[in-house]
Amino acid sequence: MLKKLLFTLLTLSLYKYAPAQKRPNILIIISDDHAYQAIGAYGSEYGKTPQIDRIADQGAIFKNAFVNNSICGPSRATLLTGKYSHKNGFKDNETSEFDFSQDLFVKQLQNVGYNTAWVGKIHLGDKLQGFNYYDILVGQGTYFNPDFISKQGRNRTEGYVSDIVTEKAINWLDTVDSNRPFCLVIGHKATHRTWMPDPKDFGTYDSISFDLPSTFYDNYDTRDAAKQQEMSIDKDMKMGYDLKMFNSLEDMMTDDNFKRMDQAQKDSYTIYYRPIYEQLKQRHLTGKQLAEWKFKRYMIDYLNTAQSMDRNIGKVLDYLDQKSLSENTIVIYLSDQGFYMGEHGWFDKRWMYEESFRTPMVMRYPTLLRAHSTIDAKVVNADIAPTLLELASVKKPKDMQGESFVHVLKNTKEEHRKDLFYHYFENGEHAVSPHFGVRDDRYKLIRYYKRVENWELFDLEKDPHELHNVYRDPAYKSVLKMMKKKLVTQMRKFDDKEAEAIYKVNIDH
Ligand code: CA
Repeated sequence: MLKKLLFTLLTLSLYKYAPAQKRPNILIIISDDHAYQAIGAYGSEYGKTPQIDRIADQGAIFKNAFVNNSICGPSRATLLTGKYSHKNGFKDNETSEFDFSQDLFVKQLQNVGYNTAWVGKIHLGDKLQGFNYYDILVGQGTYFNPDFISKQGRNRTEGYVSDIVTEKAINWLDTVDSNRPFCLVIGHKATHRTWMPDPKDFGTYDSISFDLPSTFYDNYDTRDAAKQQEMSIDKDMKMGYDLKMFNSLEDMMTDDNFKRMDQAQKDSYTIYYRPIYEQLKQRHLTGKQLAEWKFKRYMIDYLNTAQSMDRNIGKVLDYLDQKSLSENTIVIYLSDQGFYMGEHGWFDKRWMYEESFRTPMVMRYPTLLRAHSTIDAKVVNADIAPTLLELASVKKPKDMQGESFVHVLKNTKEEHRKDLFYHYFENGEHAVSPHFGVRDDRYKLIRYYKRVENWELFDLEKDPHELHNVYRDPAYKSVLKMMKKKLVTQMRKFDDKEAEAIYKVNIDH
């Protein structure tokens, strides 16, 4: 008995006072709007991402990583807090303000001696707490000559954003005390709209004839919210702002993205894009031909921008290798959510449909994770904070809603979450109706509100592209009952009272 007690006391004290240098370093690289469909490791037919693939090859690829709310700021708020949007308070990009005084996993890491930093896009305002160092993009950031905010104030750095963010991150790593573990988040602007690559990547994908996704001409039958959106490549993607096809050089140079460029940057863009515009003008495309031309240009700009970022991810991995840090550094690459590459005819995100609900995520940690691992377990972005805390031997705070998936890293065949809860709150740009829902291995139930008041139910096994809403199909009566029960369980589990109140309103007339 006494022996056992002594043993417990000893392990407890070891747990608490584990020498700081034994704790792993943490590097999170979070991109913006990077679709798994555009990543080599995820089987992309076109996207070449050797450096992201390198992380997957040397570690694990998550085939079922999801987000709780598919949009920029809320996703980063969840990453930092391990909480769903209604609990961390940052529900949408348009009205929310992030409260940095709340508990963040980086604060927990600081408590045990970590040196913490965020460099690049954070999109949660500029009153940061929990970071020993930061140098963040102002707001959304810009692709060229971006403005940054650090503890020293605001300054502009000349150059291309993915290069600059990477250089700043590496410069910071050079200054850190090697006796202390670090946690660095690199936030990329890429591959966010308006998809502006480093000019050296122009041309990589120009000769490819991209296949249209099978759902490109979706008519949104049985899905009222999808009928109302404003994120269609055909109707809503702008020829100038998005695709750089301005009616004149003067128009191009009055656009904010180009106005801030220096002459050499302007020249590289006009030399590439003006001939494309001139050719397009000759062709007088309309209807489907024009829609498909836009799709192709979108793919090219997007994949080029991803390539500019991927090269920079390689620079950081090389740095870790050179400094012999790779063994004891957890590296996670993920996007803040998934993105549409023409599926349903769309660009953008927001929906609980698979392409935006899922996010790419790869992870490397040689100490624990075997190379070439594939993880099928369902995880959500709220699980990242508690996972990192466990790996750093820090106890998870009681109110953190995510659940550590360290057990999956140890045994990659294990399951993690059975059902997934989702809630998208924003009611603005792109006209996507707010909605919440639940997904299990086979079915997905969604309740829309505000813009559209209705339900959708999908059988993902029979209908993986989510084209047939079977909510009113009598054959799915028992499935519907089961999924509603699951939804109630999830709303209560995450204490989403707003969703619960909406759920109680009967709209089935
Ligand atoms: Ca985003």
